[in-house]
This record gives sequence, C-alpha cells and structure tokens, in this order.
Amino acid sequence: MGRYRKASFVIGAREVAFALLALALLAAALAALVVGMRLTASRGVADAPVGATAALLPTFTPSPAPSVTPFPIPTGTPETAPAEAAPPPAEPAPPSPSARASASGWERSIFAGDLAANYPLVFMHPRFTLHYQPGTYAHRNREATVAQVEEALAHAEEALGVELEDRFDIYLAGTLFASPNAHLRGWSRSVDRRVYVLYDGTGNDADNLYFLTHELAHMVASNTWGPTRSTMLSEGVATYAGKRALEEGGFLPYDELCAAIYAANQMPGMHAVEQDFEAFKGHIRHPFNYFGSACFVEYLIETRGLDPMRQLYPTLDYRGLYGASLQALDAEWRATLAARVPQLRIDPDELDTVTREVSTAYALLLQNYDGSERLHRAYVAVDQARVALWQGDYEGARQWLDLAYNVWYRRE
Ligand SMILES: [Zn+2]
Repeated sequence: MGRYRKASFVIGAREVAFALLALALLAAALAALVVGMRLTASRGVADAPVGATAALLPTFTPSPAPSVTPFPIPTGTPETAPAEAAPPPAEPAPPSPSARASASGWERSIFAGDLAANYPLVFMHPRFTLHYQPGTYAHRNREATVAQVEEALAHAEEALGVELEDRFDIYLAGTLFASPNAHLRGWSRSVDRRVYVLYDGTGNDADNLYFLTHELAHMVASNTWGPTRSTMLSEGVATYAGKRALEEGGFLPYDELCAAIYAANQMPGMHAVEQDFEAFKGHIRHPFNYFGSACFVEYLIETRGLDPMRQLYPTLDYRGLYGASLQALDAEWRATLAARVPQLRIDPDELDTVTREVSTAYALLLQNYDGSERLHRAYVAVDQARVALWQGDYEGARQWLDLAYNVWYRRE
C-alpha cells in the first residue's frame, strides 16, 4: 500500500504535473490565441486606415496650404513692389514658347541703312514717331504698344526728374537685330533722338516695358542732362530708370540682386568699368554690370540726391560734387552691399551659375539662329529662361534651357 500509495503519490504527482503542464499549455495557447487575435485585430486596424487616413488627410491635415503667393507672378498691374517678398517658389514655367513671340517672317532688323524700308509702318504720336514692321508683334498690338511707349517715357522722365522737349523717333524691331548685333535688345542713338528696341514678343509685358524705359532713358538723359563720357553712368542711369518696370512686374528687387552679385564676387568695381564699353555689351552678355551700375547710381541718388547725379552725368566731377573719388564712393557703396548679404533670400552662387548658363545658351543660339521655326522656338525658350532667371526662378530657368536645347537638337 505504502509503495502503492507512494507509487500512487508518484503517479498522482506526475498526473498533477501533466495536468499543470497541460493547463499551462492550454493557457499559453489561449494567450497566444488572444494575442494573435489582438495582433490580427490591431494589424487590421493598422492596415485598413492607411488608405482611409490618406483619404482623410486633406480634411484633417493641420498644415495649412499657403494661401498667398509669396512672390507675385508678373501680371499687368501689381499693387506693390515685391521689396520684401521671398524669392519665387520654383513654379515650373509652362514649357511651351508663347504664341506672342511667334516668328513674323519679316527680315532682320537694322540700326542703320534703309530704315524706311526696314521699318515701313509709321504711327505719329504727339510726342514721338513710332516706326514698326508688318506682321510683327508691334503691328499686331499697336494700341497697347503705343500705350507702353508712353508709359516707358513717363518712367524715364520720372526717374530723371525731367521732361523731354521736342519729338523723337522710336524703332520697334519685330525681329532680331541683324548680325553682329543679334545679342542686343536695344540701342539708343541719343544724338539723333532715335532709339531702337527689340520688340518681338519675347520677354513679358514688364520686361518689354523695362527695355523701352532703358533705351528711352539713355536718350532722355543725353538730351536733358547732357551727354556723358561714362559708359558706367550711362548704363547705370538707364538701368536705374527701368527699376520700377521690373520690380512692379515681379522681377527680383534690385537691392536683392545687387547684394547677391556682390556675394558671388561678381560685382565689378565701378571705377574699373566706368569707361569700359566692352563691359557693357548688352544685358545678355553682361547683366551684372548693368544691374550693378544701376544699384551704384541709385545709391548715390538716395544718399546725395538727384541733382548732383544730374550734374555728374555730363561732367564726371565726383570730387567736386561728392567730395570723394569714384573709387572711394565705390568702396562706401560696397560696404552697404556687404551689410545686406546676411539677409539675402536668393542663393548667390546659383544666381551666378544660372546666369552663365543662360548667357552661354543665348550666345550659342544666336550664333546659329537662321530664322527657321525650330531655332526661333529655341530662341524664345532661351529668352524665357532669361526672364525666369531675372525673376529669381532658377528651376524655371533651367527648365526653359532644357526645352531650348531639346528643340534645338530636335529631341522635342
Ligand atoms: Zn543701355
């Protein structure tokens, strides 16, 4: 019995152990089942709402979409200059050259020679005579064109604080200027009271107004303030006069642009370029020199007034009028550029790089331009890259350049 009991005890203990083990296994299985169900349930919860959450995101997302465009896209009449605006978001420009710049088929435009044959159409305005060409942008938009010339003249006179007496002639080139001047967007023959402006539908309204104002300002300054021997002052004053057109049209503010040119170590010394006409061979080739000299002129006008500038223009008497040499004034102005660098919103190196890319593309294209539909489309795209660049939209500029090269090399 004792053994049995013992044995039974032993057996009993084993049974108890097995029972406990079984219970433990059962409990574990149940636990696993419950956990499994929970896992399944939670996975199910996690899985299902991925789509649902995404679907709900637009409703519940807490980050508000910007309701205000931080940098105005150029339109006809912006209310305020974008002085404090951030650089434009990289909104891809629509990659198709605009119809407004379609090739007219008219012969290349000229500065000299048989002007009456090259610009056979004439419009007599009370203050000027407009010369233009059949089938070109100015012909298709004559009323708006005349209004824009009036506006440009008002901008130039306002910037210079003068009113031009007597008439002048303005020649609007509906096609690129003939070689070797294809890179020019305008020219002023001030002594003859004649200005020539490329007006072929490229650029945009603000850009067109800028170039009209720039060329008219040359002619107005020369015929009111008197002619100047300083290329830097001539271009600086003309580019300064066009500031309003560009800034109100959504282009980069001059002070931002000049601080960036300075930060990129691309700002020329004003004394170095003062009488160097090789440094001012058009906005396409030397944009930094044009905008730089404009900022210098503006600095002198803002700190010393318009009248000394008016007297400086024909005399170059820096010491007599400002009590300082051009070099000293340049150093003083550069210190203000340096002080503005920390607040720059655009990337100076990017500005420098993309400017070179646009200038290079322009040079290559104009060398090969033959008036064909294909090269004309490429030219219009390169010009749109320039506009985007001047607006601080580097991404847009690169897209236009890509398109230009694709059209040019027949990949598009
Ligand atoms: Zn000029």
